[in-house]
Amino acid sequence: MSTQTEPLVRYRMSIAGQDRDSASGEVIEVRNMFDGAVIGTVPAGTADDAQAALEAAQAGAEIWSATPAFRRAAILKAAAAQIRARRDELSAVLSAENGKTIANASMEIDTTARIFEGFAEESLRLFGQTVPLDIQEGLQSDLMITVREPLGVMVGILPFNFPAELYAHKVGAALAAGNAIVVKPPEDDPITTILLTDILHRAGVPGATLQLVTGYGDVVGDHLSKSPDIAAVTFTGSTEVGAVIAANAGRNVVRAFLELSGNDAFIVCDDANIDDAVDHAVAGRIYANGQVCVATKRIMVVRSRYDDFLTKLRARVEALRVGDQTSENTDVGPLISVDAARVVERQIKEAVGQGARLLVGGTRDGAFITPALLEIDTSVGIATDEEIFGPVFSVLAVDSLDEAIEIANASQFGLNAAVFTADLNQAIRAGRRIKAGIVSVNGGNAYRPDVAAFGGYKKSGLGREGIAYTLDEFTQVKSIVLRGV
Ligand code: NAD
Repeated sequence: MSTQTEPLVRYRMSIAGQDRDSASGEVIEVRNMFDGAVIGTVPAGTADDAQAALEAAQAGAEIWSATPAFRRAAILKAAAAQIRARRDELSAVLSAENGKTIANASMEIDTTARIFEGFAEESLRLFGQTVPLDIQEGLQSDLMITVREPLGVMVGILPFNFPAELYAHKVGAALAAGNAIVVKPPEDDPITTILLTDILHRAGVPGATLQLVTGYGDVVGDHLSKSPDIAAVTFTGSTEVGAVIAANAGRNVVRAFLELSGNDAFIVCDDANIDDAVDHAVAGRIYANGQVCVATKRIMVVRSRYDDFLTKLRARVEALRVGDQTSENTDVGPLISVDAARVVERQIKEAVGQGARLLVGGTRDGAFITPALLEIDTSVGIATDEEIFGPVFSVLAVDSLDEAIEIANASQFGLNAAVFTADLNQAIRAGRRIKAGIVSVNGGNAYRPDVAAFGGYKKSGLGREGIAYTLDEFTQVKSIVLRGV
């Protein structure tokens, strides 16, 4: 971990192949929220900086789409190998700037490398179709072939919680599909993405093809997403900001892929293995200090098992160790900022005001929230539409699986859901009836295989991410017709 006694690193953004400061000279301080130490600064990019990147990207898209797929894939694989080689360094930076534990950060860097490899491999199978047109009267001599072509210039806007992994899902896919991309990383923890961009450039991605403009969302993100010169914007973040980006993109008839907020249900049935369910509930709620889109946010337990579940969960929540995220003995580190912790503190108080019972924790110290256990009912906002982004376990008793499904579906969100049961019929019923992108049976919510069609129902998003799925989304189909005689 960096401390204030080490020299401050002044990181730069990457525009048109050059490492640059902001046109305004302003910087954003990046802090380790364990002790508040500044670990580096990044430029506070301006609209002019964003525009410069967009202009360079047009040539970047042409160079890259003319690069054969085998060469692009080899470059991405070389970058993945570098990410693996620098695992410890990248994990330490990520843990320091984000606050997630070093174990979580290392896992994210491993995932980042694996996703780049996955997109590189899948891009070698980006095939089209051959369609003999004798299926339609009058066209019987014709043959149609389809090819998948890149979209052109893309913009990728990233949230703070998985800056490396989501960089891989967006940049890996965009580049594997032959697009140029301008990345707007999160303002709180952008350093890992700056290091990843450097690795990709060194591996051979042209500077104009992959650019990164640091800065605030309402300046850099706003300018990029409003540009009429882009083909698509891929965004992960809150539903609130996603709606603004979709509107910006819509005005220019630009594609918008949105991965947004969630309030995942976690349902424990009468025949569930309670010890397993408690294990998964804890893992799924404290991962990344509770700041995960797919997380155990609403735990619903059938009444006959409620007391057993709550007693065991309570003991586990009380035992969680809060502290320095770089220590292997820490379960929960600081949230991304003091402001983020204040929001969680306020949400806990509001829930209590609405009738929730706070059984454990829930106090704030700077950016830290002590893991909280709340007993709630459906009159509390967090039971349906309100997402809590922190280590807060909300538990409510239900009469049956059907009631739990009804509550799960009463939310505006629908990202992931989990159900614990030994009964295949209950598993199938939950799997078919819950409105969410992924339903896990006997597994927790924080579950995202690289290849899964990952994405939200309802206000949790538009489009799907996942190795093969994103490549489909980030390309367009062209039909070439050979007219016969
Ligand atoms: P956020 O929406 O506040 O910010 C996300 C990004 O958008 C940041 O880079 C920010 O600078 C930028 N931004 C902000 N205002 C903008 C504007 N007007 N125009 C363009 N860009 C703008 O989200 P966050 O706090 O970083 O992340 C937490 C949220 O993200 C949670 O709701 C979480 O559920 C969601 N999330 C979803 C997924 C998923 O895959 N569905 C994954 C991770 C996080």
